[in-house]
Amino acid sequence: MQKNSTPANEPIDHLVILGGGTAGWMAAAAIGKVFKNSAMKITVVESSEIGTVGVGEATIPEIINFNRILGIDEREFLKFTQGTFKLGIEFVDWMGAGSSYFHPFGRYGTAIGTVPFFHYWQKLNNLGDAAPLPDYSFCIQMCKQNKFAKPTNIPNSPLSEIDYAYHFDAGLYAQLLRKYAEACGVIRVDAKVVGVKKNSDNGYIKSLHLEQGGQIDADFFIDCTGFRGVLIEENLHGGYEDWSHYLPCDSAVAVASKPLEDLPPYTRATAQEAGWQWRIPLQHRTGNGYVYSSRFISDETARQTLLNNIEGDATGEPRVIRFKTGIRRYPWKKNCVALGLASGFLEPLESTSIHLIYEAIANFLGLFPSKTIQPELIKKYNQLQRRNFTTIRDLLIFHYWANKRTGSEFWDYCQNMEIPDRLKNKIELYQSTGRLFREDNELFSDVSWISVFLGQGITTAAYSPIADVLAMSDLKQRMDDVKHIIHNAGQPLPSHRNYISQYCPAARREP
Ligand SMILES: Cc1cc2nc3c(=O)[nH]c(=O)nc-3n(C[C@H](O)[C@H](O)[C@H](O)COP(=O)(O)OP(=O)(O)OC[C@H]3O[C@@H](n4cnc5c(N)ncnc54)[C@H](O)[C@@H]3O)c2cc1C
Repeated sequence: MQKNSTPANEPIDHLVILGGGTAGWMAAAAIGKVFKNSAMKITVVESSEIGTVGVGEATIPEIINFNRILGIDEREFLKFTQGTFKLGIEFVDWMGAGSSYFHPFGRYGTAIGTVPFFHYWQKLNNLGDAAPLPDYSFCIQMCKQNKFAKPTNIPNSPLSEIDYAYHFDAGLYAQLLRKYAEACGVIRVDAKVVGVKKNSDNGYIKSLHLEQGGQIDADFFIDCTGFRGVLIEENLHGGYEDWSHYLPCDSAVAVASKPLEDLPPYTRATAQEAGWQWRIPLQHRTGNGYVYSSRFISDETARQTLLNNIEGDATGEPRVIRFKTGIRRYPWKKNCVALGLASGFLEPLESTSIHLIYEAIANFLGLFPSKTIQPELIKKYNQLQRRNFTTIRDLLIFHYWANKRTGSEFWDYCQNMEIPDRLKNKIELYQSTGRLFREDNELFSDVSWISVFLGQGITTAAYSPIADVLAMSDLKQRMDDVKHIIHNAGQPLPSHRNYISQYCPAARREP
């Protein structure tokens, strides 16, 4: 380590993004905005012949920030992408046939004292005096009533506590971002890359060779080519850490169906024989898919299960997609960063992949290099990526491990599989002390963890002794008030369908 150093600061002249899926255009829009008035040229190379993965429709609330930073108007965005609102995910049959619970956005209850609400709830629950925890979540109550409204500024009202995300057509979102990026000066080239030339001295990528002839030179490359990782894996050998022993699903079969009449404001994840099925309501169609493990059922069984379990008729042919859950060992290597599916994949159970793209872009911008790339930037970026993937991964593993389904090899395997130490420690701490901590700046808060713990039957009687500071009579009164306010606040709100019709009706479009 040197006490003083002067970094080389020669700016990048040309940055190339290879791939024009959600990741490519999110990167182009965000980086294009930041460098709009600079001399740096940005080019997106995408192949319309290859196309995109064509799935990825449910998000989490952080997407709102991404759009806000870009200055994208919410109504225009929802109209353009046939979008709807999302207040959480309903998990059906994970605890056996007929079971259901919600993982909501927003929080439970309200601030009562100095410890999180669920400690007060746990105390009353032990005495048999509490309603079920979901009765204290405004977002869950709105999901159950199929209602929606955007948060207001009314103090102390549950309406100010609403937290939401979107469902949208990811292909249309990429189109919207493309328009945005092009307006920032980003150039698009429709071409298939068939070869890569590297510098012989340092192994950096120098140019991309196009099928139709010609080459594109650049100083820095962003690989958004999807699962193949054309630059990061096929050329730079960034390596892949396979996590399929924890998350054994490796395939999905997807099909659209007609839009749902009542347009539920939530994603549904229904456990099936060897995985789970998603239902994502959009304005022009419903997205459906069965995420499964090909070790336990065939593609044909998965396809039939999906078709038997969708509401209404399919509007196309089911399509099988293969994947391997895991993380790129070196998502930034030499002069190339991988984003999106090229950087690793966590299956869509908690709708986190698009969020991971956003996080990665934010980290990359925070560590943006000059022409001479300091190894410390690369090291930091790769550490942050690993942390983001690992902490989300653990909640996904927990869903599978804590299932209570019987009579199926797949679910038996999940109940008995080894789980990571970090997750084991979280479960032990919660069960023995009632405490849940947001560690390593992880995405999911205590609200998420408590929802899934209780939803999947992992309970505790323990709570923080700080909850005892509040007098019992006060506590009962305040908990009752919270429950009633939450129950009543939802009643005058419009249905989600009506809210969409007023706020952001999309043009009619074939599914
Ligand atoms: C089954 C499934 C369900 C999912 N559901 C969700 C969800 O609900 N929520 C969520 O957040 N995420 C979800 N995801 C993840 C989400 O789909 C992706 O994170 C997102 O679409 C980003 O994809 P991408 O841009 O990295 O790759 P892709 O969409 O595959 O795009 C790759 C791009 O690279 C281009 N390309 C590839 N090779 C070349 C070449 N040689 N030359 C030129 N161009 C090339 C292609 O043309 C394309 O433009 C899901 C993923 C799967 C598999």
